[in-house]
Amino acid sequence: MSDHCSLGWAPATVGELDHRVLKAPSVKLRGAYAGASGDTVYCIDLRLRHPNANEYLSSTEAHSIEHFLLEGFQRLLPRHFVGIGVMGCQTGFYLTFLNEGRRALIEDALESILHGVLEATAVPFARIDQCGRWQNHDLGRAQAVARGVLARRAAWAEVA
Ligand SMILES: [Zn+2]
Repeated sequence: MSDHCSLGWAPATVGELDHRVLKAPSVKLRGAYAGASGDTVYCIDLRLRHPNANEYLSSTEAHSIEHFLLEGFQRLLPRHFVGIGVMGCQTGFYLTFLNEGRRALIEDALESILHGVLEATAVPFARIDQCGRWQNHDLGRAQAVARGVLARRAAWAEVA
């Protein structure tokens, strides 16, 4: 956990923070965990909505954005992307990477994915054979979320 600065993360923003001060949209390193053989797992919080501000992602918005992030990070960082989880509070997503924790690189990939959302003609992996609730998607709503997050691109590093 000693090289957070070189990876681009402000040390004061790493770890669990008081949710009353969290800003959004923001990208935050929650933790870096080194294994015995030298690999490192990076857990990153992608916060798209302010906590407890009554501006939650709908289940449909979170679901469709989740699919875009899954497809995009798999495509752009195939050797590093491990997985994504929806925050139960519907304010963002948990991202996990193996041996890739550079803020700029992850943010650039996110930016590319969100631009792709705006260009998309369908939500990825949204067929009945690919998704557990395939009718719960809305491309237009996902595009509105992506547009709003991209509009604040310069502030993604402002975590709190
Ligand atoms: Zn799904």
